Formats: sequence, structure tokens, C-alpha cells
Amino acid sequence: MNEENISLYIDNQEYIANKYVLKCFNVMMLVYTSTFILNLLGIFVIKQELMFKAYVPSLMIYCFLLVVIRFVSLSNAKVKYFILFCTIAVFTITGVFLTYHVVLVSLLPFLYAALYSSKKAMGYVYVLTVFSTIIIVYGGYFFGLCDANMVLLTTDGIKDYIVNGKFILNEVNSNPYVTLLLYYVLPRCLIYIAFMSVCNSLFEIVSGSLEKARLTDALSKAKEDAENANKAKSQFLARMSHEIRTPINAIIGMNEVILRESNESNIREYANDVKDSSAVLLSLVNEILDSSKLESGNMEIVNVNYSMGSLLNDLYNMISIKANEKGLTLIFDVDPAIPAQYYGDDKRIKQVLLNILSNAVKYTETGKVILKVGAKIEGDQAVISYSVKDTGIGIRQEDISKIYDAFQRFDLSRNHNIEGTGLGMSISQHILQLMGSELHIESEYEKGSEFSFEIVQEITNKEPLGDFREKIQRINDKNNRRVWYTAPKVNILVVDDYRMNLKVFKNLLKQTEMNIFLAESGKDCIDMVKEKSFDLIFLDHMMPEMDGIETLKVLRENNMCDNTPVIMLTANAIIGSRDKYLLEGFDDFLSKPIIPNDLDELILKYLPKEKIIDCKGNYESKEESVFENRKPHFRLSVLNELCVEIPEINIETGLITCIGDEEFYLELLNDFMGNTIKEELMVHMDNGDYKNYCIRIHGFKNNAYSIGASELGDLAYEMEKLSREGIGDRLIELQKEFFEKYDSICLRMKEILL
Ligand code: ADP
Repeated sequence: MNEENISLYIDNQEYIANKYVLKCFNVMMLVYTSTFILNLLGIFVIKQELMFKAYVPSLMIYCFLLVVIRFVSLSNAKVKYFILFCTIAVFTITGVFLTYHVVLVSLLPFLYAALYSSKKAMGYVYVLTVFSTIIIVYGGYFFGLCDANMVLLTTDGIKDYIVNGKFILNEVNSNPYVTLLLYYVLPRCLIYIAFMSVCNSLFEIVSGSLEKARLTDALSKAKEDAENANKAKSQFLARMSHEIRTPINAIIGMNEVILRESNESNIREYANDVKDSSAVLLSLVNEILDSSKLESGNMEIVNVNYSMGSLLNDLYNMISIKANEKGLTLIFDVDPAIPAQYYGDDKRIKQVLLNILSNAVKYTETGKVILKVGAKIEGDQAVISYSVKDTGIGIRQEDISKIYDAFQRFDLSRNHNIEGTGLGMSISQHILQLMGSELHIESEYEKGSEFSFEIVQEITNKEPLGDFREKIQRINDKNNRRVWYTAPKVNILVVDDYRMNLKVFKNLLKQTEMNIFLAESGKDCIDMVKEKSFDLIFLDHMMPEMDGIETLKVLRENNMCDNTPVIMLTANAIIGSRDKYLLEGFDDFLSKPIIPNDLDELILKYLPKEKIIDCKGNYESKEESVFENRKPHFRLSVLNELCVEIPEINIETGLITCIGDEEFYLELLNDFMGNTIKEELMVHMDNGDYKNYCIRIHGFKNNAYSIGASELGDLAYEMEKLSREGIGDRLIELQKEFFEKYDSICLRMKEILL
């Protein structure tokens, strides 16, 4: 039952409860009116004067209560208790003086109590009614008015009754108080209590279902809150992925440039260390992202044709270095008869095997890690079996079943220096379940473990895989080569509002001799495509004014790039994005941080073959490394001066993001000073356009970080986060602070640079 249905249900139930009460009132009114008419006709022979004295006030009370019930908010408990109390008080007082209408008027409190659907309120009414009955009867007796209902029970007229009242009572019992108790108070109390019980059970039924509905409502609200919290967490992870992956992109990209260009062994060694650490960092970020995707049910299984040879080759490349470092023997025992190609999600299978294999290496100190691959062929399908055996520390029997739980790690004292999140196995199990398989674990503590699974895949090429070791060797030779192709006739356009990304991109492809054109906005991209035709376009997603998706729309609508593949380039690894971009008309998707091999793969996939020149074994960088120019002090004296005058900017950091290119860094600083950020933010704020405000400050934040102005970047990041929620007081405050800081930096910068 959703929230809307529940509140409708509650409204409905309250409506039913009120309807019951009003019905009772109406029945009461009918009885009351008929008694009145009968009296008028002289059937009960009640004195006219007394009759009016009794009827008129009670009618007024009745009408007043009817109005109150209809219009007073039922949810205001204090008002309701006040009315309840007043009703009983009125009923008691009128009962003493006017007597006749008492029975009818006394129904009111019960109905009221029922309206509250509360046992406590009903309890009060029980007690108060008993007291009020006693007061009425004894009060009436005391004031000599007595209970006029006696008229209905006696044949005497009202006058005789009043005159002879004491006499009649005395006849029954010499003590009038006992007589009243026995003949009036007790029977009346019993009748009231019986009546109240009937009312109570009637309304308990109604209130029971009301209570149930309220409970369901509360549960569904709690569920909704939990879902919202989870959604917020996923959004946070998606955002963080963007924030973290962007700088990792820079690190991996620039490090790759160093590895490609530097011939100095110590620099290459450092760069290799950076490569290892950034790969670990990236895999941690990816694991957290994957687990959030799995949790929200958004993990995509993308089936493609793949070759078993390259899957195993990639795995071997990724694992062998670590295994060698630890002195472990890594054996890939692959049945040469298994078919060579399949249809399935090779990336996810690789991810699972990589998780298992890296654990095997991580948790084994000496001995072997063996991957065994075999297949049973059933028509067009193969049941492929993978098993990874190690001679490592093993897992205790009682821990094996817990291994699939997220964030579970065992033997922490022993493994404290082994990095990991405890997510790998949980993700692997989920992925395998999505592909209709599951992970089996056998392990003996202190001896070793075996992780295995079977997976059914469609065969697309039945040719046997052959000698896999030889294939690995061949492929390894190819991979050891640096960039093995050039394409001097190719024109590539890269669009990104973040200058540093453009620079990194250009550098990565420097040795391919391709002509790389750069655009910093969607509009620039459109202008350039109008002028020139490109072989391939890489388009960033989040950009101010026109984002990547809008830019592509304009290009496609105006048939400006009909024959040019357009690839989405983004750090926004949010759930479902791949499908989203393909649906938006992109030909492919390259996620940032850019993995150089993935970039090469995409370029080779989309470029016309005739434009690619294969230059295997021919690689040797002839260009001077940009890092050769790096000195402990800056080459340009102006930078030394900036370093002293503007401590808010860390020039070292700025230069790292510019790959040590001091001239380019100065260019960035000039851009920074000439930035129209202030004017633009003010316009967006005046217009309440927080979407563009957010995009603009997001871009500026990256700029600030890239020149080394981290404090300003942090402030911009705060503003970016706030502006996602809209424009509020806190944002206005931060903007003021931001403008002051920015102006102060620019002022000093201008004095030195201009
Ligand atoms: P982690 O990131 O900690 O490796 P995993 O989910 O991959 O997380 O594994 C969960 C835990 O299972 C590990 O912390 C480790 O204690 C244990 N484990 C996994 N694989 C092995 C293995 N091959 N040998 C011994 N213990 C293992």
C-alpha cells in the first residue's frame, strides 16, 4: 500500500467513524423529537412549562455539540478533551435542574469518547458518568426537583410526584438515600455502562483498523526515509566518484606520459610506483562504486563477443607482476581444446577472476597460485569452469560462509598490512549471480584455498584456443612495446572545459602524431566542426552552458558529424550512465580516468584502418622530455616571485598538473585572472539559476585546483555542493568570502604578471 493509498484509507476510516457518531446523534434526535411531540399531544402529561424548560436548553446543547463535532479539528487532542469534560459537566448540571432530557443528553459523552477511539478517554467517561448520575439523582432529590423520568414509571402526574416524591420513596425504604441508590443510581449506572460497552466495542472495531492503517503508514514512511537515505548515499558515492576519479585521471594520465617519455631509470621507477598506487586507489574507488551499483540493482551486464585468449592474457598481465614480486609461481592451466570465442560480459568475468586471483596472490606468502580453465561443450553453448587454487593462509571453516558479506575481512591481526575493503568477494558473488552462476569456496586454514565457479556462455567461434602460454608470450611482446602506431593524417577533436584534461589527453597521444584539436566548450566544438571535418570526436559531459549531450544533439540535428564517431568522455561514472550515453546518440563511452590502453583501443576501433601506420618495434621517443626542464627552482623568475608573494598558490602543484610546462602554467594563470567567474556567478544568483551556478563553480573549482590554489578550490567546492540544493543564505555568505579571496589573489598576481 503506498503512502497516497494509506492516507486515503485513513481519511476514509475517520469519515466512517464520524458518520457513525452523527448517525447516533440523529437517532437520538429522532427519539427526542418524538418524545417531545408525544408530550405535546399530552400522552405523558408533562407540564408545558417544565417541558420547554427541559427541551429548549437540551436542544441548544445538542445543536452546539453537533456543530463542534463537525468543525473542530479531530486531531487536536486538547480541544477534544476539553469538549468531553464540558459535555459531562453540562449533562450533570442540566440533569440536576432540568431532569427530563437527561437520559438522552447523557448519550453524548459516550459518543464523544468513542470519537477519540481511545481506551483512556472511555475509562474517564465511565467514571465521570457514574459520578454524574449520583450527582443528578441526589441533586434532584435534594433540590426537590427529582428525576422527571419517574413520571414515565408512575401513574401520578408531575405535580403529585413532586409533592409526594418523598412519600413514595419513603414507602419503599425508610432511608431515601438507600432507595435512590437501589432503584435509581445502580440501575442507571448499569444501563449506562452496558450502553458504553456496546459503543466502545463498536468503535474499537473502527479504531482498530484506523490504528492498523496508521501503523502501516508509519512503516511505509520509515521505509521511504530509509530508501531516501540510501538514495542520498548512492548519489554521494556517484558524486564522489566524479570528484575522486578526476584527479586520479590526472595522476594516471600524466604518469603514463612520464613512463612513455622518460628514459631516466630512477624517474621511471618512481613513475612505476605511482602507477601501482594509483591503480590500487582506482580499484578501491571502483569497488565502492560497484557495490553501490549492485545495491541499487543497477549493475549492467553487457554482452559482447570476446576472445578467451585476450581475457586470459589481460588477467595474466595484471596478476603476474604481483606474483613475481612475491616470488610465487603463477600457473595458468588452460585446456587448449576449449573454444576460442564467446558471447558474454567479458569485463565482468575478468573483474571476478581478477578479484579472486589478486586475493590468492595477496593472501599467499609462498608456493603457487593456479588458475585452471576448462569447458564442457553442449551444442552452441559451453559450460566454462574456472578454479583458482592457492597455497596461502586459508580461511577458517566458520568464516567461509561470511565471506560474501560486504566489508567482511578475516584474520585482521595477521592481514593488517594487506590493503582491501572486504568488498571484493561480495561483489564477485553478486556479479556471478547476475550471470546465473555462483562462487564455491573450499579452504583449509593455514594450507590454502580454492575458489571456483562455472558459467554458461554462447560459443561464437569453435576453433580451439590452442597453446595459451605461447599466446601469452606473443601478446606480452606486443604489450611491452610502447605506442606501436602512428596516424599523422588523423584529426581528432577533444572537448573538455577543464584545460588540464585537454593537455593530458593531447600528451597521451603525442607519439601517435595525430592532429589533436582542442575545444573548451560545446559552442567552440560546434564552431570547429563547422570549419573542419574530424575523424573522431571526444566530448566531455559536464560543461557550462552547453553540456556534452546538448552539444551532440546540435551536431546531430544539423548533420554536422554524420560520419564521425563521437565518444563520451566523462568522470561521471554514475549508475546506468553507459546505456544513457549510448541512448543519447554517442557511439561509445570512455570513462575518466583515461586508461591509456582503453584510449588506444577505442581509437583503433573507430579510426579508418588505412590511416593507421603500424610501426611495431620502431618506437623510441625523439622528443625531449618535458621533465628534463624541471629544476628545484623555477626556470621563469616571475614564478619565483609569485611563489613568495602569493602563498595561497602552490606553484609546485600547479606545475605538476601542467606536466612541468612553465609557459603553459603562466597561460593558465592569465586565464585565471581574466576569468569572468564573478560576473557570471552574480548573474546566475540574481536569476536564481542554481543549475548553471553549480556547473560554473564546478568548472572553476577544477581550474583553481589545477593552478595550485587549493584553498580557493575548496571554497568553490563548498559552494558547488550548496548550489546543488539551491541558492540560500549560506551560499551568499560563502560567495562573498570567495569574491574577496579571488580579488586579493588576482590583485597581487596582476602586479607581478602584467
Ligand atoms: P579484501 O578486499 O579484504 O581482500 P574480499 O572480499 O576480497 O576483501 O575478501 C574478504 C576476506 O576473505 C579477505 O579479507 C580475506 O580475509 C579472505 N580471503 C579472500 N580470499 C582469500 C584467499 N585466497 N586466501 C585467504 N583468505 C582469503
